[in-house]
Amino acid sequence: MLDKSVDPCTDFYAYACGKWQAQNPIPSDRPSWARFNELQDRGEVLVRSILEKYSVDDPKRSPVEQKIGDYYFSCMDEAAIEKAGTKQLQAVFDRVAALKSKEDFAKEAVRLHRDGITAFFEYGSEPDFKDARQVISAAEQGGIGLPDRDYYLKDDEKSVELRKQYLAHVQKMFELLGDPSEKAASETKAVMDIETSLAKGSLDRTSQREPEKIYHKMSTKELAAMNPSFGWQVYLTEIGTSPVDSLNVAEPDFFKQFEATLKSTSLDDWKAYLRWHVVHSNAAALPEAFVNENFEFFSKTLQGTKELPPRWKRCVRATVGDLGEAVGQKYVEATFGPEGKERTLKMVNALEAALSQDIQTLPWMGDDIKKQALEKLKAITNRIGYPDKWRDYSSLKVVRDDALGNSIRGNTFKEQHDLNRVGKPLDKSDWPYPPTTVNASYNPLQNNVTFPAGILQPPFFDNQADDALNFGGIGAGIGHELTHGFDDEGAKFDPNGNLHDWWTAKDKEEFEKRTTCIRDQYAGYNALPDVKLNGKLTLGENTADNGGVRIAYMALMNSFAGKEPTPIDGLTAEQRFFLGFANVWCQNRTEQISRYLANIDPHSPGKFRVNGTVSNMPEFREAFHCKADAAMVRENACRVW
Ligand SMILES: [Zn+2]
Repeated sequence: MLDKSVDPCTDFYAYACGKWQAQNPIPSDRPSWARFNELQDRGEVLVRSILEKYSVDDPKRSPVEQKIGDYYFSCMDEAAIEKAGTKQLQAVFDRVAALKSKEDFAKEAVRLHRDGITAFFEYGSEPDFKDARQVISAAEQGGIGLPDRDYYLKDDEKSVELRKQYLAHVQKMFELLGDPSEKAASETKAVMDIETSLAKGSLDRTSQREPEKIYHKMSTKELAAMNPSFGWQVYLTEIGTSPVDSLNVAEPDFFKQFEATLKSTSLDDWKAYLRWHVVHSNAAALPEAFVNENFEFFSKTLQGTKELPPRWKRCVRATVGDLGEAVGQKYVEATFGPEGKERTLKMVNALEAALSQDIQTLPWMGDDIKKQALEKLKAITNRIGYPDKWRDYSSLKVVRDDALGNSIRGNTFKEQHDLNRVGKPLDKSDWPYPPTTVNASYNPLQNNVTFPAGILQPPFFDNQADDALNFGGIGAGIGHELTHGFDDEGAKFDPNGNLHDWWTAKDKEEFEKRTTCIRDQYAGYNALPDVKLNGKLTLGENTADNGGVRIAYMALMNSFAGKEPTPIDGLTAEQRFFLGFANVWCQNRTEQISRYLANIDPHSPGKFRVNGTVSNMPEFREAFHCKADAAMVRENACRVW
């Protein structure tokens, strides 16, 4: 698959991915296409066969099989969905219409939030940043329909145009509910005014990566005093957690702005806003007209997707979304098994050993800090493949002919599962996403990494491939997640996951010198001719790539034990390692999604993840015999870890 017409020292990404890009156009039902999506597609086909098998109404099905089968069946039953229309939401619309004063909002927010409708703000559980063994509740900014505050506030031509298109979409959704167009227009204006006002109080995405800017623990009385127009005591009593007397108000400025918006906006405008969020949140489970209109704006306009994905794909995603660990049990039986867990664990151990070696030999770090970093590394725990104990769905009712009801009850179940954590010790065995997920993560508050079965497959991890390719693929992935524990955000947390400064001033200065190098490097890249990458937003991810590939390379060298493997297809193990890394990031993107992701995604586009990383590595230069003035050899190479 190599493009040998390109010199790897000039553009390694084009060399490794150019042919793949040419041969893999973006499918019409996606905004982008990447190696990641190949895995997703394979997984979805497998999940489909599982769900189809259990969607046959058979009394011999186990309770888990009944739930996933009937959920999928109801979602696929378009005739029943068309026939049901929006009838089931009518009770909610009526309730909203009947609100007598803003004092009723707290009770209404409880009902909406429990149904998964995130109007006003967001509320859930999280470990206490200062005592991460304990789970507390958190109130966070939210309540907007567009993906980020910047969409409401930026004045460039594209943003202005997108807002016009958003207005047209909101208006259309009101009309689909049967509102006359004049009424729909005034409702739309109310929505935009409220959401813009909430956006003004919201913290930008780059700042949200700074833990100290999103941690403001206060008593419930303090919150109520800051935001007196909302009935916080009612909300906190009724939402469904154990009693709380304090919580993290992640962004106090947002709640001050929420207060101001509550005061300045009429009851009728708020009712329009709530009506919008009810229909918006449930759009995917409604009749075709709503699904299509929702797709037109959020997928086509915003991301450049040409066609709605086929119904079965949407239903696979919806079933996984609401019953992830129930589907996951069947998926794991078919794909993974204990031997997969074993092999992955071995790799994680090899990467941890390499990072330890790396930390011990870093020239810029003092011995004391090294000791602490090693302690943190040692404390990292792993979640691999799938949870030891599956989530119990027995209280979730799934009905064969009620797609919308299943979706709402699914939301309520997830919401309650999250709220149940509040007031309890942190349970690290509780997984953040289902095992089918094609992703991996590090959680600074838990100081652990998660590698679901979904990602432990080719091209990340291939049983048939040599070590060099696997260390470049999943090895670099594991290295990436481990390095997150020590990126500009992760480094602020200690081995126990507490936000606590364990650095000396001198070491911190050296650390920041090095992260600044990476920030500036990536800020110089363009996602589109008129869109620069945000060096600060992407700093953690780029730092994780920078360290992850280096320690994966070290782990590979360790695995040779002094004996260099013979080349395969004319490529040395070192060269195959870097190709294994690049392969994972081959991708094609629409212009729209590139613009969209540059706004909100802390990850850099594939091209820069690859070229940005390898051009900092003397190991790469050596592997491909690049000259000193080659494009893939940065004069001032950045290195943090
Ligand atoms: Zn990452």
